Amino acid sequence: MPLSINEVKKLLRAKEYKLTPQRQIIMQVFLDIGDQHLSAEDVYQIVKQKHPDIGLATVYRTLDLLSDLEVLRKMDFGDGRSRFELNTAGTHQHHHLICLECGAVEGFDDDLLDGLEQVIAAKSKFKIVDHQLKFYGYCQACRKQEAHD
Ligand SMILES: [Zn+2]
Ligand SMILES: [Zn+2]
Ligand SMILES: [Zn+2]
Repeated sequence: MPLSINEVKKLLRAKEYKLTPQRQIIMQVFLDIGDQHLSAEDVYQIVKQKHPDIGLATVYRTLDLLSDLEVLRKMDFGDGRSRFELNTAGTHQHHHLICLECGAVEGFDDDLLDGLEQVIAAKSKFKIVDHQLKFYGYCQACRKQEAHD
């Protein structure tokens, strides 16, 4: 799990890529922002405040490269906008809560699936290393604004 810009640099170098200033700036957004799920447009909006020279196309390319290298994880929640987050390799993915109203994506950290994983493993002889669980509904902010109960 790359937690510092130096670790990212090593990972890139191992694959013969360089940590260019643009890649570093974009990577730093994820290191600074912590556990959040950002679209390319979100990243672009943050980056352009201090670095108006970095275009949206560069952001897209860099995010794709960083996910190919498994530094970031690219996720699709079915709304046509990929989201990216730091790839915490070696742990099970947290679950995702996706708001149908505003598109916000929240992580839910408790796995809660140990029992289920054991049953599946025992019955199927399948070794489970990860899973993806998406819950669709309405976030707290949207629930307050509209009657979604
Ligand atoms: Zn699990
Ligand atoms: Zn919402
Ligand atoms: Zn997540």
